[in-house]
Amino acid sequence: MPDLDQAAQAAQSAPGSRFVPDPAGWVPAARQVPSPNFDARPAHMPVDLVVIHNISLPPGQFGSGDIEAFFLNRLDPSRHPFFETIHQVRVSAHFLVTRGGELVQFVSCLDRAWHAGQSEFFGRPRCNDFSIGIEVEGSDDQPFTLAQYHTTAALVRALLGTYPVRAVAGHSDIAPGRKTDPGPHFDWAGFAAAAGVAPAQLPYRKEQP
Ligand SMILES: [Zn+2]
Repeated sequence: MPDLDQAAQAAQSAPGSRFVPDPAGWVPAARQVPSPNFDARPAHMPVDLVVIHNISLPPGQFGSGDIEAFFLNRLDPSRHPFFETIHQVRVSAHFLVTRGGELVQFVSCLDRAWHAGQSEFFGRPRCNDFSIGIEVEGSDDQPFTLAQYHTTAALVRALLGTYPVRAVAGHSDIAPGRKTDPGPHFDWAGFAAAAGVAPAQLPYRKEQP
């Protein structure tokens, strides 16, 4: 398990932090790569959930640039057999955290990104309506990097201070049986401490023996 004390210190995002979204919902610390895959949230819908995912393209490979291509509808189906099955799928997330900890933003936090799919959070369906999606580049069978915890924690801390976020959940929590990410290697306890997320904001995360 990575030492997340350092991540906690790095995530003490003060007012004016570059992780705090601007009034248009874009985070200054992020490299902006606007995706066409978004639409408006329902009217008067508060953003009160953050969803953590993992993604790798091709599966299990990192740094190819294919995640960005996928969210921009530019995935080349000839590059990998798996891409032939997904290249026409229209999806996005608000954020991607690369293995090196770089933050990339595809959709304004004010808009609805298409990351959760069929999902439910305490009886509320269509989690895309009220959530911010963060893809952490990784897979279910490999540890995430300390740089990724630094960045994800700093981002979530800033989101908590900007929007009425009440909970942080994994994709697997809002689409159980259908999705497994962010997977068993995501250190929820360390992340929560680093991000300043109270245990009560992680409703699905019971203490593991
Ligand atoms: Zn996911």
